Amino acid sequence: MGEVASLALFDHHCHGVVAEQLDRAGFEALLTEGGPAGRWGGSRFDTRVGFAVRRWCAPVLGLPPHAPADDYLTRRADLGPAEVNRRFLTAAGLSTLCVDTGFQPRPLTTPTQLADLAGAATYRIGRLETLAEEVLAGPDPAASGSGAAGFRAAFRERLAAEVDQVVGWKSIAAYRAGLALPADPPDTTAITAAADRTLTAAGPGGKIRISDPVLHSFLVHTAIETGKPVQFHVGYGDSDVDLHRCDPLLLTDLLRRITPSGVPVMLLHNYPYHRQAGYLAQVFDPVFVDIGLAAHGVAGRTATILAETLELAPFTKLLYSSDAFGLSELYHLAALLFRNALTTVLNAGTDAGDWTPADARHLARLITHDTARQAYRLGRHPQATDL
Ligand SMILES: [Zn+2]
Repeated sequence: MGEVASLALFDHHCHGVVAEQLDRAGFEALLTEGGPAGRWGGSRFDTRVGFAVRRWCAPVLGLPPHAPADDYLTRRADLGPAEVNRRFLTAAGLSTLCVDTGFQPRPLTTPTQLADLAGAATYRIGRLETLAEEVLAGPDPAASGSGAAGFRAAFRERLAAEVDQVVGWKSIAAYRAGLALPADPPDTTAITAAADRTLTAAGPGGKIRISDPVLHSFLVHTAIETGKPVQFHVGYGDSDVDLHRCDPLLLTDLLRRITPSGVPVMLLHNYPYHRQAGYLAQVFDPVFVDIGLAAHGVAGRTATILAETLELAPFTKLLYSSDAFGLSELYHLAALLFRNALTTVLNAGTDAGDWTPADARHLARLITHDTARQAYRLGRHPQATDL
């Protein structure tokens, strides 16, 4: 299965990277979901992803594998962010990127800049909560109304205005309310009451934060009506996530309700609930899964996570994403670790006689890009050929 290394990847969930120089603290803060190194954690380089950077990223910057962290950061600074980002985005071997632009705690490269760096096609994913918060913050003179009473109609108008500019939507309900969302579309009275509670909690001129399960459910159902895929953050994330409320099985009722629409639902990351996600992908036709951020999170253990995901998930329901954010190293690492893991899993099946080499080649093409291209209804990009 040498050919997995030669297949361009369709990265269906990722973010921009930092375009300015980073010092050691800034680099380490972006390396794991733990944020800046604290009093007790030591260096973030002493993690699986930190060792993976030294092993796999150092050679891309012209250093030997396992170069010390200080040497790595000095070399990174000498080359400068533009060259570093170009090298890692190119090394990732990507055909297509779907970029979530809804989370910008600091300036990040735009989808257009990522396209130039990666030599790949880029598309936007619209973050539902960000759009809803902008609508609630109104007043938008073009909307049907403002404030809680007009929210339902104004949000629908906002999605209709955005739908041609995105290839899909993303819900971060996991970060705000957990995944036990109401299955049925909430009625207008419930939506207005929830919007009113949200505005009251923010106070006059305060920052609006959608975190009501009724509103998250409304946003998802409205997004599904547009016919474009909806991504859910599931499982592993930073300390804002209440991980015990992020088991994707909590979405079961909602997924059952959505399934007749046939609109794809993408469960992102999933770790440590990747087996549960694999089950959902088997029993609900429009549900797809990836291991996303878990690849660089667990680094050398990626093949185990991937094999466990594929215990039940149909091979036709697995997508690739990096969830790279901030550091261009994460684009390269996620791609490399995923390719290695997929090769390991497919070779194991071939060696065991579970499938033929021809079957493995077919699965590799599906998983690296063909499935995603179909689910997002994108034509084949001219550069989306083999590397
Ligand atoms: Zn993300």
